[in-house]
Amino acid sequence: MQFTIGELAKKAKLSADTIRFYEKKQLIRPPLRADNNYRYYDQDSLTRLVFIRHCRELGMSLKEIQALHEQLQEPEQNCVHVNEVIRDHLHHVTEKINQLEQFKVQLEQLEKSCQANASVKDCEIIQALQRPDDRDDPLTLSRLDLHA
Ligand SMILES: [Zn+2]
Repeated sequence: MQFTIGELAKKAKLSADTIRFYEKKQLIRPPLRADNNYRYYDQDSLTRLVFIRHCRELGMSLKEIQALHEQLQEPEQNCVHVNEVIRDHLHHVTEKINQLEQFKVQLEQLEKSCQANASVKDCEIIQALQRPDDRDDPLTLSRLDLHA
């Protein structure tokens, strides 16, 4: 089976730009150039892209995917390093859950701090959010990143 980048994108459920990005990172082989000068990708590239997408859907970093990709280059080797990557990433996810639990507690406190009878400028939530950072910043949701 051979695919143009458009066909490959559709089958792998990724954009053409994303595929080119992974190609640049050497996570898939460059396409073959056919007689008509079109570039064609093979089934291996599709298999690899589905693999990468599944890793991304689990929140793995590019570095982690690259580590797994390296393991795929040595298919006969013991899979202990594959397990290591997954164990480390599970740890990242567990840490993030703990952080999200903290966000939840802080947001519940914030929600309770206001009875909704004040004007916006006097609202306890607004007051709390405007307070300078001399204590722990109560809202750090924008920094949510599994590998921060
Ligand atoms: Zn991770």
